[in-house]
Amino acid sequence: MNYFSTNNPSHLVSLREAVIKGLAPDQGLYMPDQIPSLPVDFFSSLKGMDFLTIGKTVIGALFNEDLSEKEINDLVEHTLAFDVPLVEVEPNVYSLELFHGPTLAFKDVGARFCSKLMSLLVQGEKIKVLVATSGDTGSAVANGFYGVEGVEVVVLYPKGKVSKLQEMQFTTLGGNVTALEIDGVFDDCQTMVKRAFLDTELNQKMLLTSANSINIARWIPQCLYYFRAYAQLENPELPLVFSVPSGNFGNLAAGILAYRMGLPVSKFIAATNINKVVPDYLSGGGFEAKPSLQTISNSMDVGNPSNFYRLLALYDGDEEKVKNHIKGCFYSDEETRMAMRAVKSSTGYVMDPHGAVAYLGLKDYLSEHDFAANGIFLETAHPGKFRDVVEETLEIELELPERLAAFMEGKKKSLALPNDYQAFKTFLQS
Ligand SMILES: *Cc1c(COP(=O)(O)O)cnc(C)c1O
Repeated sequence: MNYFSTNNPSHLVSLREAVIKGLAPDQGLYMPDQIPSLPVDFFSSLKGMDFLTIGKTVIGALFNEDLSEKEINDLVEHTLAFDVPLVEVEPNVYSLELFHGPTLAFKDVGARFCSKLMSLLVQGEKIKVLVATSGDTGSAVANGFYGVEGVEVVVLYPKGKVSKLQEMQFTTLGGNVTALEIDGVFDDCQTMVKRAFLDTELNQKMLLTSANSINIARWIPQCLYYFRAYAQLENPELPLVFSVPSGNFGNLAAGILAYRMGLPVSKFIAATNINKVVPDYLSGGGFEAKPSLQTISNSMDVGNPSNFYRLLALYDGDEEKVKNHIKGCFYSDEETRMAMRAVKSSTGYVMDPHGAVAYLGLKDYLSEHDFAANGIFLETAHPGKFRDVVEETLEIELELPERLAAFMEGKKKSLALPNDYQAFKTFLQS
């Protein structure tokens, strides 16, 4: 399989190049040049199928030209070390809980897959992954890459500007993960990383790469959630609606990839907070990037969603198809809090603010269309990750899950560096 750039369909590269480069040289996103259709007997036996079997079949169909069966099995087993339970919150309204991984957010699956795939593709060479983080990406990437052979991770974070819990998630690991505490802000960390990628002298000496969400190795494995959700439905013959809380739109685009491989999805809901560039596009406007606004669902505070062009590419650039199959909607913080309270008081279920945005989108769609359907909203983070907002909104005390609490007992190991590129470069060469 080859991968093309969304900016130039005739620019084709190998899997190895797409994964190691991350972004195409023309700034486009890589996309698989053929999307395999899964066989009919896969779908007829999907009900009840476990996550590993699903993973091996779907990843096998996408990567069997580039990887051996053993490599595919290793990759899937490393990635899917936890399940994504489907919980019925109200009749025919389900929460797909994507937060049972090591850092309790759905980005764990992509990060684990990405690390393992990189280690398979570099084959003995050493590769350094550089990540600048304002918190969550650092923890998912550090934990996903922890202990993976041949890959070294360097996390740059702004001193004093990430939460204690986030900091502990990437500074206590040690091993192949090094945390650099930079005396600056997030943008300074980002600037240093970008400069390193452009530094010819450095790139002659070492293989440097990034692990951000535009990398196909982080994007593609997210399609697995949707198959696993379907496998857990009591009545899979009903029309299926997925509501996806979206920021950069990688997760939603991965759902559409599952649909293109044959999963029968009648509607996708693109649910956002007031950062509503894509809902505006879907309701008839053009695509217009905006500065991002701060909300309580802050992992979705994105004003220029990078996976938008993947959405278009998945419908072969046909905007009418895009607008027919995806419905956009957006909600204020107040509406989000009201939904969290209403669901808690009527069912006892605690949603995090991101999941609550998706819940609202699903409920509004189902109430506008009076038909029996399986409605699934994606719950992308454990409520404990957004403890302050959840506790204040619901007036409850949340117990921190054991996995999060365990990080707080580790020992912080980080290297303090000034906000200075030369110091960073010297560190990389040491
Ligand atoms: C990253 C993230 C999102 C948004 O996912 P995209 O793929 O960027 O649309 C939603 N919820 C949580 C908790 C996240 O961390």
